[in-house]
Amino acid sequence: MDMEIKITKTANPKAKPDPDTLGFGQIFTDHMFMMEYDEGKGWHDARIVPFGEISVHPASTVFHYGAEIFEGLKAYRTPEGNIQMFRPIENARRMNNSAERMCLPTIDEDFFVKALDTLVSLERDWVPSAPNTSLYLRPFMFGNDPFLGVHTVKSAVFMIIASPVGSYYKEGLNPVSIMVETEDVRAVRGGTGYAKCGGNYGASFRAGKKAEEKGYSQVLWLDGVERKYVEEVGAMNVMFMIGDEVVTPALTGSILPGITRKSCIELLKSRGYNVSERLLSVDELKAACASGALREAWGCGTAAVVSPIGHLVIGDDVYTINNNEIGKVTQELYDTLTGIQWGTEKDEFGWVYKVK
Ligand SMILES: *Cc1c(COP(=O)(O)O)cnc(C)c1O
Repeated sequence: MDMEIKITKTANPKAKPDPDTLGFGQIFTDHMFMMEYDEGKGWHDARIVPFGEISVHPASTVFHYGAEIFEGLKAYRTPEGNIQMFRPIENARRMNNSAERMCLPTIDEDFFVKALDTLVSLERDWVPSAPNTSLYLRPFMFGNDPFLGVHTVKSAVFMIIASPVGSYYKEGLNPVSIMVETEDVRAVRGGTGYAKCGGNYGASFRAGKKAEEKGYSQVLWLDGVERKYVEEVGAMNVMFMIGDEVVTPALTGSILPGITRKSCIELLKSRGYNVSERLLSVDELKAACASGALREAWGCGTAAVVSPIGHLVIGDDVYTINNNEIGKVTQELYDTLTGIQWGTEKDEFGWVYKVK
């Protein structure tokens, strides 16, 4: 599929934000990508238009039945001033897996990357250059049939919006405290856990709010059937260094297959670490905390890259991990991945996509 992308430039470009005040997802660039899908016609009208509000029918499928999926990745500015993305084809593939689960239309993977490339290229001045800043890219799709009948969608909209974002760690990589959640579950096997769909987030807000009220930054999700096995931390994948083994929950269907997770596994294996994707019960984790075998723990995802876990709360017990300091393996992953992403470290895996 090589559809032409029609570009309409804004007549009123906005002032670029002060790079020191960048937060996450509050400021948007001058343009956005969009195209529509209709059954029998396929994807059509691929275009980049001035950023702005869109008009959606009040009966649209997305509002009533939650047919929505999304992706998240970043464009980085290298020291030479070039712009690159990290493994965007992986986002294209995952978006199609999510689409398949939600009966939304798929998108040609090369075209998905071309759409990203075209938008980022047009918005290149919006890719900030201050340390650890980037342009966050949010592709998303929603079912958009203008009637209330319950059935799979015949029309959909795909868009990409872009937002310059600041350093995730303003005061260095500070370990976070997380709490094992025993009531709410994020996803169940057979459900939509492996799809990056908005509904998974809507269903997770309550536990996140509860954890926050108790003074913890994230929840550690357990599996939905037995409430026994560790799944994810907040909206990140999770890894533990137990003895000499790096353990991360296996992709059983209720876990989101993170691209950062995949990259951590590939990187650690290439460096000779013993990495297992397997079931990890909260009892095993508790025993590893008590015996001191748990040496490091971290969350991983595009936004934070890696996020060290300093305290783990299981029921009434609070365990401190690695003295509440970032561990050696966590630091090594952070340094290598950010080095590749921002182009200061050799890309030996071919993960970098250079924007034209
Ligand atoms: C997006 C996401 C992740 C991380 O995926 P990355 O591709 O590494 O950014 C992990 N868990 C959930 C629930 C997510 O939505």
